[in-house]
Amino acid sequence: MSRALFIIDVQNDFTEGGALGVDGGAAVAADTTRYLERAFGDYDVVMASRDWHDPEGDNGGHFAQAGTDPDYVVTWPPHCVAGTAGAEYHPGLDLSHVTMHVKKGQGEPAYSIYDGEVEGGASDGATVSAVLEERGITEVDVVGIATDYCVRASVLDAIEHGRHVRVFTDLVAGVARESSDAALLEMGHAGAVLVASDAD
Ligand SMILES: [Zn+2]
Repeated sequence: MSRALFIIDVQNDFTEGGALGVDGGAAVAADTTRYLERAFGDYDVVMASRDWHDPEGDNGGHFAQAGTDPDYVVTWPPHCVAGTAGAEYHPGLDLSHVTMHVKKGQGEPAYSIYDGEVEGGASDGATVSAVLEERGITEVDVVGIATDYCVRASVLDAIEHGRHVRVFTDLVAGVARESSDAALLEMGHAGAVLVASDAD
């Protein structure tokens, strides 16, 4: 049995004070760091993703057009623009146990880590799916931001790809309470195990 950890989009723009700051985002960074300190040995791959958008254009309709309000469902204020501080990992997330970095969203909406590409190292340019296949990963644990968007999409994709998925409910944060609760229910119905990170 081989296990991967997905750390979804723990970035400055998705934490308090960022362009799309989520309440509890900084706590997810700090608590994930503490979790990794004790649990990194359980993982064959620790994969962290970043939303990483082009500075020009609307990234395939993902950014609201200038002069129009985002709907916060399909269109969003500009966020995680490549090369800006907002796109960087939150400083509370210790990256020393992260073994693979994934960037997603260049020029298009990309909620799921499966839409991204590995950057750097021996797997540079590979898809997440290819890396998990090659390494025989059957189990995936998921933490990060936001519960109701990129965590949700990544979890559903991992299940669709045949992985057993756990979501650590104490290590995720969402845009809104109602949609986060609905997303957790949906992930559970799809087959994800919803559990606290210190459950075992
Ligand atoms: Zn985005």
